[in-house]
Amino acid sequence: MASNTSTNNGGGYNFKVVLLGEGCVGKTSVVLRYVEDKFNDKHISTLQASFFNKKLNINGKRINLAIWDTAGQEKFHALGPIYYRMSNGAILVYDITDEETFKKVKNWVKELRKMLGSDIRLVIAGNKVDLEKERNVTVEEAEEYAKQVGAVHFHTSAKQNFNIEEMFLDLTQRMMQHADIVEQKSTLMRNNSTRRNVVVVEDESAEPAQPSKSGCCSGGGS
Ligand code: GDP
Ligand code: MG
Repeated sequence: MASNTSTNNGGGYNFKVVLLGEGCVGKTSVVLRYVEDKFNDKHISTLQASFFNKKLNINGKRINLAIWDTAGQEKFHALGPIYYRMSNGAILVYDITDEETFKKVKNWVKELRKMLGSDIRLVIAGNKVDLEKERNVTVEEAEEYAKQVGAVHFHTSAKQNFNIEEMFLDLTQRMMQHADIVEQKSTLMRNNSTRRNVVVVEDESAEPAQPSKSGCCSGGGS
């Protein structure tokens, strides 16, 4: 259950966030926009390491996001559990002009829920909203679907820097809330088990000393 390394050890929160989605939907662009405030019109081949760190401070609380971008394995359908294990959050990106990429998001949601249950916070990002005129996934369908699966839906444009920061902020706040709840629960459980250890002293002298002559359950007898 609480397998994720989301702990708030007084020193702050550490979260792992993965980006998932079909090739070319803009995953790398979204991260680069968020972390380095850059955008490139070309497809960025991420065959190098695709791991980014982002430090945040929300209401005086320090948060470190480890953001994992795929190295393009999605094109070979080769993204497995090793990539997303121990994730606290996932951003499932599709391209609003390409219906197929939205279907792919649904597959990812199923897989993540199956493998990680409710331990992971989900965001669905309809990217490339600057291409609104070429939209092929309706807003209603996407938002309705997100609601159904307990995800939050954002419309983003890495190109125009629209809603990127807001999306990461919302995800981070939800991960913090979840981590706090997990922490509270485990504190409660710790306290409970200590208490149980103390209470397990039975007072045997309270039992009747002599065996009862007419046990009502033992058959009594003639
Ligand atoms: P990835 O394969 O999912 O990592 O996708 P990339 O980040 O490499 O982007 C694929 C292509 O989509 C590139 O040509 C990007 O410039 C383009 N792209 C990414 N985000 C946007 C966006 O918000 N709007 C538009 N119009 N193009 C985008
Ligand atoms: Mg990429």
